[in-house]
Amino acid sequence: MNWLSYLLFILLVSCPASYTSDGKVQTNKSVSITYTGNMGVLISNDKTAVWIDGLHEYYGPEYLNPPDSILEKVFEKKDIFSRLQWLLFTHYHRDHFSAKLSKRFLQLFPAHKVIGAPQVIDSFSASHIINAWNKHGEILNDTASSLRIKAFNIPHTWPQRHTKVQNIAYLVELNGIRILHVGDADTDPGSFSFSQVDSIDVMIVPAWFLENENAKKIIEQLQAKKIIITHIAPGEKLKSSIGIKNTETILFYKISQSILL
Ligand SMILES: [Zn+2]
Repeated sequence: MNWLSYLLFILLVSCPASYTSDGKVQTNKSVSITYTGNMGVLISNDKTAVWIDGLHEYYGPEYLNPPDSILEKVFEKKDIFSRLQWLLFTHYHRDHFSAKLSKRFLQLFPAHKVIGAPQVIDSFSASHIINAWNKHGEILNDTASSLRIKAFNIPHTWPQRHTKVQNIAYLVELNGIRILHVGDADTDPGSFSFSQVDSIDVMIVPAWFLENENAKKIIEQLQAKKIIITHIAPGEKLKSSIGIKNTETILFYKISQSILL
């Protein structure tokens, strides 16, 4: 063994690490966000994982849904899904939520929970749910895994048509990193003026936020450092940046794409 291979050996032994799809080294202190289709993202650290809008089925050619290769890993708790504990849903629309797949998950892992509004959680028994509707504040604090979740009601886009839809924005704090997922939110800046939500590290938004002046105001107001654009239809062409100084734009359009924080 020459000195270079010896050095590499020592590095490998002393720093157990894996690599994400964008080639970054994942260490034990990292938080990763991995795309699973439409607005689905898995947020994880070395102890736990939260999946927002993850389990949904085919709903038409404009919506990406998690393929069988992902579902197999979920139901066998493999790879990035090995630490999955919490299924969060922003609302019940079928491009975000499947009661059937969620039931299957809970049958396999009865200690885990589904978090959402009554339109989502009414499909499950009381021991399996956390109601996040009308909370406007903290719904979960698990110090063992450095996880806190806050929930805020926020109007669904096209409110005239979707007035009855209970849409929830989740603020997930993992290892102190603040990640806000807004679901199918409308772009009325007034809806985002809730307290406790500012200085966001990562904001996960639907595609219609990218070319909308009101959405730009919301993102500036929340001082989001990064925005991740989701809900992109396959083949849809979008501009690559929202054009806000100090805010990085990331487009999630490919299943398993991920970022490390
Ligand atoms: Zn919707």
